[in-house]
Amino acid sequence: MHDVIIIGGGPAGLSTAFWCDELGLDTLVLEQSEQIGGQLHRVYNPINNYLGLKARNGPELLEHFTADVDSAEFDLWTQTSISSVDLKTKRLVLASGEELHSIAIVIATGVRPRELGVPGEKEFIGKGMIGSGARDRELFAGHDVCVVGGGDAAVENALLLAEVCPTVTLVHRGKKLRARREFIEQLQAKHCVTVFTESVLTRIIGNDRVEAVEIQRKQGLKPFQLAVRGVLIRIGVEPNTDLFRAQVETDERGYVVVTREQETNVPMVFAVGDVSNPLAPTISSSTGAGATAAKVIASRLNAK
Ligand SMILES: Cc1cc2nc3c(=O)[nH]c(=O)nc-3n(C[C@H](O)[C@H](O)[C@H](O)COP(=O)(O)OP(=O)(O)OC[C@H]3O[C@@H](n4cnc5c(N)ncnc54)[C@H](O)[C@@H]3O)c2cc1C
Repeated sequence: MHDVIIIGGGPAGLSTAFWCDELGLDTLVLEQSEQIGGQLHRVYNPINNYLGLKARNGPELLEHFTADVDSAEFDLWTQTSISSVDLKTKRLVLASGEELHSIAIVIATGVRPRELGVPGEKEFIGKGMIGSGARDRELFAGHDVCVVGGGDAAVENALLLAEVCPTVTLVHRGKKLRARREFIEQLQAKHCVTVFTESVLTRIIGNDRVEAVEIQRKQGLKPFQLAVRGVLIRIGVEPNTDLFRAQVETDERGYVVVTREQETNVPMVFAVGDVSNPLAPTISSSTGAGATAAKVIASRLNAK
C-alpha cells in the first residue's frame, strides 16, 4: 500500500512525486515508456519560458529534472504498463499481473499528437513522415513537402521547412489559419509556400517511402495528387485518458475535469498537467499543478 501512485512520468508527474517525497509521502510513479520526461523528448526548440532555467531543448531541461529526481527517494518504475485501474478503490493491476494499492492516485498522463487517420500515415513512419521541422528539416532539404494543420505548431513547422525546401504545401481544413498573426505574416512572405484552406489530406501515397499525397480541395471537388517527399502532421493533441475515461468526469474533448485542488470528481483521485489543462498546457503549469496536488494530498493524509 502506497500513499500515492502517480500515473505518468512527465513534468507534471515528476513534480508531483518530488513534492510528495519532500512532504514525507510514500510515493510510486508508473511510467509506460522507457524514459521519464514525456513530451520534453519532442521539444526541439529552446525553452526560454520556464522561470529560473533556460534550456536549448526539452532533453536539456529534462537533465535538470532528472538530477532532482535522482536525489529524491520516491519509487519510479519505467516501462510499466497498467492493465486496469479502479479509481474508486485505488487498485491498479499491471500487465505483469502485479496488483498495487494506494490511498491517492494522481493522473499525469499528458497528451499525444492527434492522428489524421488516413491511409499511409502509420505505414510511412520513418519513411517520409516528418516528426519535427526543427529536428528533421536537414533530412528534407531540397525536397517538396506537405504540412497538415492550421495552428501555431503547423505554421511554425511550415516556416522552418520553407527555409530549406523548394515547396511547402500547407493543407488546412478550416476557412482561415488559426496560428498567431506574426507566423501568418511570415508565411505570406514565403513564395515557396502554398496554402490550401478548406482542404483535407485524404491519403499518403508511396511504395517504399512517401512519394505523394492526395488532397481534396473543398467538398465535392475531385481529389488530386501532389508529389512530395515528406509529410508533417500537426492537427493538435488529445488527452491520454483511455485507461480511466469511463470512471472520471471529462470534458467534451476528453480532458479530465479538476477542482482548484486538482482533484477529480472521484475523492482522492487527482489530475495534473496537460491531461487536465486544455487551456494552458505548459511545463510551468504542469509542475505547478503537481505541487498543488501533492500539498493537498499531504494535508489530507496528515489530518487523518
Ligand atoms: C514541440 C513541443 C514544444 C513545446 N514547447 C514548450 C515550451 O517552450 N514551453 C513550455 O512550457 N511547454 C512546452 N511544451 C509543452 C510541454 O512539453 C507540456 O506542457 C508538458 O510536457 C506537459 O507535461 P505532462 O507531464 O502533463 O505531460 P507529458 O509531458 O505528456 O507526460 C505524460 C507522461 O505520461 C506517460 N503516460 C501516458 N499514459 C500512461 C499510462 N497509461 N501509464 C503510464 N504512463 C503513461 C507518458 O508516457 C508521458 O511520459 C511543448 C510541447 C511540444 C510537443
